[in-house]
Parts: sequence; C-alpha cells; structure tokens
Amino acid sequence: MRICVIGLGQMGGNMALTLQSAGFDVTGSDLFDSARQRLAEQGLPVATPDELPSCDVYLLSLPTSAQVREVIETAPGLLGLAPKGSVIVDTSTSDPVVSRELAAKVEAAGLAWLDAPVSGGPKGAATGRLGMLLGGETATIERLAPMLEAMSARYTHVGGSGSGHVVKLTNNYLCAAHLLTTAEAVAMAARAGVDPAACLAGVNSGSGRSAVSEVNFPEWILSGRFDSGFTTGLMRKDLRLARDAAERLDMPPGLLQAVVEAWHADPERPADGDDFNRIAGALLADATPVEESAS
Ligand code: NAD
Repeated sequence: MRICVIGLGQMGGNMALTLQSAGFDVTGSDLFDSARQRLAEQGLPVATPDELPSCDVYLLSLPTSAQVREVIETAPGLLGLAPKGSVIVDTSTSDPVVSRELAAKVEAAGLAWLDAPVSGGPKGAATGRLGMLLGGETATIERLAPMLEAMSARYTHVGGSGSGHVVKLTNNYLCAAHLLTTAEAVAMAARAGVDPAACLAGVNSGSGRSAVSEVNFPEWILSGRFDSGFTTGLMRKDLRLARDAAERLDMPPGLLQAVVEAWHADPERPADGDDFNRIAGALLADATPVEESAS
C-alpha cells in the first residue's frame, strides 16, 4: 500500500514514521521546507505539495478544515491529482459539516473518503497506539485495516462520513471540561490542606476519575513538564467547532458554552502556543492552604 502523509507536524510526522517502520511505502509532504527537512533527516522520503506521488492512500494531518479543503480542492488538489479508487483519510480534528461536503465531492470524483480523527498525542502516533474514530464506509475500513492496525491501539467505526469528526468534537469537549473541573477540585483540596497528588490518588480510586485525572495530571501537570505535544490553540479550535455544532443543532443552553468561554477568557494564560494542560496549571497556581472557619 502506497501512502502519502500530508502535514508533517507533531502528529503527521510521527504517523508517517510509524507507517514506514511497519513496512508501508510512505512519502511525506508539508507546505513548509522546515517540516519536510526534519522528516527527511529521519529517513522519510518527502515531496513538495506540487510533486505528490500517485498513492493508494492520502492521509491528511492538518490544523483545520480550511487546510484540508485547500489540499483537496485547490489546484492541483487531490480531487484532480489522486488516482481513481484511492482513499483520502482525514485524521485532523475537522469541522464535520465541511467533512461531509468534502466527502461527497471526493466520492463524486471516484475516490473514497474516511474521516479518522485520532487521540493519543504525538507519543501515540510515534508508537502506533492511537485511538481512531472512523466515519465512512465499512468496505473502505476493511480495505485500510492493515494501515489502521499499524497506527492504532484501537479504532472504532462510529457511522458514515463526518461521524468520526462529530464524535471527536464530543470527546474533546469532555476532555476540555475535565481539565477545568479536575483542576478546580484539586485546587479546592489543596486550599483545604490536601496534597494534590494525594487528592488525585483518591479521585482515581473513585467515580470522579477520567483520562485527565489518570494521565494528564501525573504526566504533564503535577510533573510541571507541560510537553504533551497538543497546543491550547488546537483545543480552542476544537471547542469552537463543538459550540458551532451545538448551535446548528439547536441544543438547549448547557455547560458547553461556559467551557468554551473559560478556555477563551485570557488569550495569554495560556497562550495558543502553550501546551493545553497549562489551563489546569493556571487554575492550580494559587492553590495554597487557607484558614477555614466553620460556617
Ligand atoms: P501541527 O501544527 O504540529 O502540524 C500541522 C502540519 O500541517 C504543519 O507541519 C504544517 O506546516 C502543515 N500544513 C499546514 N497547512 C498545510 C497545507 N496546506 N499543506 C500541507 N501541509 C500543511 O499540528 P498537530 O499537533 O500535528 O495536529 C494536526 C491535527 O491533529 C490537528 O487537526 C489537531 O487538532 C489534531 N490532533 C492533534 C493532537 C496532538 O496531540 N497534537 C492530538 C489529536 C488530534
């Protein structure tokens, strides 16, 4: 299977190297010389966007739907360039409405579509242990099974085109909310004189636990490392997409709006380029024991 990975950032670069190690014939492409150069130095064959090779699969890992649309539609664009029968796999966290529109165009051009957003961060991409949410035809997934198995610890088919991106937004909304609620809970415990690590050990033995309390807090927040590889700017984008989807779907007002506002309250704390776990770090910064009096 010949695979072209377009977008060689934190995720795409690692996915390309993982697929190459698994024995696939992989070429990487990126708009920027620096990204192509970085991957070429690690042994990946690379091509500029103007010289994409003929492939069975075009795997996209791009910031937003705007770049996905550009790569597919803007001349020469994959619509004109990809051979009939090849598959476009969008692993970016994209806008489901745009994904459904692009999927229809891709299929009309004789190509196949799969949305396949991922979780697990750069580490999951580098180790072939991603979680993938798939939106598309069962036959396409069966055809791509060897590639999907090389990239992921688990993939879940959640529906037709765009469904993977819908579920990815719901997942990231929950993750963003858990970062706020868990940081608030740990800050409350710290003010009451309980060590944050001890508080989390308790939470993780109870029903308040989540991936945020079990993974993010020990790995990136309490350790002070803040090097997960996922930026605040990307999480803010995902939350705006979730909010837009909720508005289009006439959802009654709920917590989502409050979570979106909290993540956008201060553009400097954290800044878009900061690790997304910094939002919890900021909430914990002032959490020192205070004198309580009985009410
Ligand atoms: P990134 O910014 O590190 O990488 C994106 C890459 O796309 C960059 O190298 C950029 O130069 C390239 N690019 C931009 N426009 C392009 C174009 N028109 N043609 C070719 N290349 C282009 O981002 P990332 O962290 O790797 O994330 C990629 C996607 O995966 C995003 O949609 C993000 O929301 C999602 N995601 C990221 C993580 C994570 O932990 N980083 C986890 C899950 C999902």
